[in-house]
Amino acid sequence: MQFDYIVVGAGSSGCVLANRLSADGRSSVLLLEAGPRDDSLWIRVPIGYGKTMFHPVYNWGFYTEPEPHLNGRKVYWPRGRGLGGCSSINGLIFIRGQPQDYDNWARLGNPGWGWRDVLPYFIRSEDNARGASALHGAGGPLAVADIGERSELVDAFIEGAAELGFPRNDDFNGLEQEGAGYYQLTTRNGLRCSAADAYLKPARRRPNLAVETDAHATRILFDGARACGVAFRRRGVEREARAAREVLVSAGSLQSPQLLQLSGIGPGDLLNRHGIPVRRDLPGVGANLQDHLQVRVMYQCSKPITTNDDLNSWHRRIRIGLRWLLTRSGPLAIGINQAGLFARALPGAATPDLQFHFGTLSADLAGARPHDFPGFTMSVCHLRPTSRGTVAIASRDPLAAPALQPNYLGTEVDCAATVEGIKLARRIAATSAMSGYIVREHRPGPAAESDAELLEFARNHGATIFHPVGTCKMGSDPLAVVDSQLRVHGVPGLRVVDASVMPALVSGNTNWPAIMIAEKAADMILQSMPVLH
Ligand SMILES: Cc1cc2nc3c(=O)[nH]c(=O)nc-3n(C[C@H](O)[C@H](O)[C@H](O)COP(=O)(O)OP(=O)(O)OC[C@H]3O[C@@H](n4cnc5c(N)ncnc54)[C@H](O)[C@@H]3O)c2cc1C
Repeated sequence: MQFDYIVVGAGSSGCVLANRLSADGRSSVLLLEAGPRDDSLWIRVPIGYGKTMFHPVYNWGFYTEPEPHLNGRKVYWPRGRGLGGCSSINGLIFIRGQPQDYDNWARLGNPGWGWRDVLPYFIRSEDNARGASALHGAGGPLAVADIGERSELVDAFIEGAAELGFPRNDDFNGLEQEGAGYYQLTTRNGLRCSAADAYLKPARRRPNLAVETDAHATRILFDGARACGVAFRRRGVEREARAAREVLVSAGSLQSPQLLQLSGIGPGDLLNRHGIPVRRDLPGVGANLQDHLQVRVMYQCSKPITTNDDLNSWHRRIRIGLRWLLTRSGPLAIGINQAGLFARALPGAATPDLQFHFGTLSADLAGARPHDFPGFTMSVCHLRPTSRGTVAIASRDPLAAPALQPNYLGTEVDCAATVEGIKLARRIAATSAMSGYIVREHRPGPAAESDAELLEFARNHGATIFHPVGTCKMGSDPLAVVDSQLRVHGVPGLRVVDASVMPALVSGNTNWPAIMIAEKAADMILQSMPVLH
């Protein structure tokens, strides 16, 4: 098997690369994906999020190590497995963060990654139903739509936030992020638009693109110092493929560093411990792990107007199912979180440092069975956590899960912002717009009052909002893994292209940023391609 490029991982970033690198027909591309094809109806239907959250096939279903600041809890970490990667199982929320996030990347030593540099790649990717503007694109591969119908409960949340002085915001990717409003979702005609739908499907028939599913990359192959191919396991059989130009690792923030470490690129002491010959001692591979912790504040609602009520009654389930089948609208087309709030929590925050995900549903765990009462959730998350963690191989077995240690709530700043977020949720609940909808606070509940009690609640119940990044960060400092062209330092022929290269987490959700990263990487790769003929 001989190709120009091998892309490892068909997630948000990998699908973009497969499309853009095969588009002009000059290069051959092999896309290797460890998981299966994305045929399930639960991937297509936005509300299938609840079904794929613990799915044994479409989800890697990782757990963190016991978390020292979460009272030793192991936190469930879903990750998409199969074509589309996480974009096939995610919450569809379309947010890219703040311009300042990208200017910060540039300031951290990454020329070409400032806001003005990345904006054209966001725009190029986008097919926003609202049309094109200075900050948005139309006609790109990634479909984006408004939530077609309003819910009185979501409207009350937005109204409640307005009572506290937060502006109404109908475009969190517009000029200002601050405020409350409905999210836009990555859907088209009531169906999920994953990166596989957006980028891979239109490219599948190209003769110069090969896609192998159920193909788990186990090791990068080298010719001297240069990466020249990938060893992978397909249905139990060991195989190899060669890359004449480059190997592009897009296995996501947990498995890109894992694959590098298994291939001898990583912290020397870790590799020595596992008996892996050190090809390149790069201490940053797997370091700098950052994630958003969500703390879900839940209420029992006074009216049976929530998604809990739809899902807990068989005749309402039939009604919403028929509605989706006939009109591609209603709760099945919306997913879980309909609205958001961006707010400033900590003194001195120049831009929002808190994000709320508001959903007309409540459950003990994200994606678990809804409560048997009408319920809703304000999920609170601190946008710029300062805690840092690690991803490290736990064994030489490439199919074994890596050890994940995010160290949530490891700093005072993170604790303070989280507590402020919970208090803000309570203030919104107490507004005249919202209070009429509330029977009681289900969690944390009235027993938790002081800051210390709220923090303890966060330690006992906080969970991921699924945005791990930073484990192969770009830069030029000693912990940097790739340069600003996403080339692995000191290893010719090898790049990492996915959310792991973010030097710092963005102040929002991470799917669109992962897509942008690959859009930009594709341009850099094509521009650096030597003319062979
Ligand atoms: C449950 C959930 C909800 C989320 N909700 C949102 C949301 O609403 N909005 C948002 O913007 N973001 C959301 N995210 C985050 C966002 O989807 C991810 O940050 C983004 O998709 C990451 O893209 P990626 O390309 O870095 O990695 P991924 O999309 O994870 O892709 C990595 C791919 O590599 C494959 N792979 C891994 N190892 C190997 C190997 N060794 N060999 C071959 N293939 C391999 C994986 O199977 C996967 O397909 C959510 C994520 C999850 C899990």
